[in-house]
Amino acid sequence: MTDVLISGGGVAGSALAWWLRRHGLRPTVVERAPAPRDGGYKVDVRGAALTVLDRMGLTGQVRAHDTGMRLARFLDGRGRQLATMDAALFGGRSDDDVEIMRGDLTRILRAAAGDVEHRFDDSVTALRADADGVDVTFARGPRRRFDLVIGADGLHSTVRRLAFGPASRHLRPLGHHIAICTVPAGFGEERVELLHPAPGRSVGVYRTAGAPDARALFLFRSPGDAGDHGDAGDRGDVAAQRALLGRAFAGAGWRVPELLAALPDAPDLYLDEMSQVRMVSWSAGRVGLVGDAAYAASPASGQGTSLGLVGAYVLAAALAEAGGNPAAGFAAYERRMRPFVAANQALAERNLKGMVLGSAGQIRFQTLMLRLLPRLPGRERMISRVAEPIRRAATAITLPDLPTRAT
Ligand SMILES: Cc1cc2nc3c(=O)[nH]c(=O)nc-3n(C[C@H](O)[C@H](O)[C@H](O)COP(=O)(O)OP(=O)(O)OC[C@H]3O[C@@H](n4cnc5c(N)ncnc54)[C@H](O)[C@@H]3O)c2cc1C
Repeated sequence: MTDVLISGGGVAGSALAWWLRRHGLRPTVVERAPAPRDGGYKVDVRGAALTVLDRMGLTGQVRAHDTGMRLARFLDGRGRQLATMDAALFGGRSDDDVEIMRGDLTRILRAAAGDVEHRFDDSVTALRADADGVDVTFARGPRRRFDLVIGADGLHSTVRRLAFGPASRHLRPLGHHIAICTVPAGFGEERVELLHPAPGRSVGVYRTAGAPDARALFLFRSPGDAGDHGDAGDRGDVAAQRALLGRAFAGAGWRVPELLAALPDAPDLYLDEMSQVRMVSWSAGRVGLVGDAAYAASPASGQGTSLGLVGAYVLAAALAEAGGNPAAGFAAYERRMRPFVAANQALAERNLKGMVLGSAGQIRFQTLMLRLLPRLPGRERMISRVAEPIRRAATAITLPDLPTRAT
């Protein structure tokens, strides 16, 4: 049986474990976090990724955990309401798209994968590949040999660094930073996105249906002095991250000073430069990459989760189809995924322009448009013009059929 090590038990890694097992390969997942990660932030599943969930038989379970968001409320610096918008429209969701907390989705995927060996609190530290397999050294566990190694270990992938060189070669910054953390429920309103846009920076707080707490999301233009805050996966230098946020949001209105004051109590501050991963190839010999590790589109795309789910499906099918010829499997995976990834990476750059506006005038114009929208003739057409590029990118792939041997 083909033994595959998957580095990273997030969305892409967990989905890949499910599909490899389904195709008769034997996955092992190594995850750096000491235990399964709950919560996180909300993510979308759209287009082709919904078909993948369907083929896994997980659509019902995933829908049962939909965040249930209903409204986006735009606020000025004094907390006065500027405009409102349907939450699905704000999130660019249409038809059957689902929004779910990342932790819920990962838990569902991991549970569905069944009897897969998971090694938490460990990480790959060295890879030595030859023609028949890969010798893997771990930070904690004993050295082991696998037929294949797949890096599903996110934007700052260790497998990518070990097999393809330093991150600086593959990360393409988008000029903005993002931070997110858990804050007390009282900052939010259940099922509502509260948003305070300001020139060059924006703050949002949301509380999903039934959640005991809220999430605060900070977006801002990358300052020249941002520095390197380390690999966000190990939380980097949290004090430096808090200081950076404090500088970026100095003088901000609404409840931003209170949110900043709450940061020291946040258990899970995440801060990173929004970046995409651009690579010439996603495999080298018996080592491959999937999800953010290979082709992160950034949170601005709203498509990272769907790209992870679809990539896992396509990669597992290609490896199963190619049998003992992993190079052919990796090549088929890449051929099918490349145009899909390109369409969604382009979407991120487009979305980002509307997420952080440059001037007070642009914010006034956006507010006016949001207020007028419900009364404008041709409203439906205008809305579909917003949602259409997302829908097109989310469906820009023809999924391979399941190989017959897998059924
Ligand atoms: C703030 C924020 C908001 C986002 N919003 C959205 C959204 O609205 N919609 C959307 O679709 N996407 C969104 N995304 C992106 C989305 O979360 C990712 O694109 C998606 O989760 C990719 O999944 P992945 O499994 O490839 O990587 P990740 O989710 O990053 O998972 C990687 C896993 O690997 C583990 N890991 C890392 N290094 C190692 C190592 N050395 N050894 C072992 N394990 C390791 C990590 O602990 C993690 O579990 C957002 C991302 C962020 C940060």
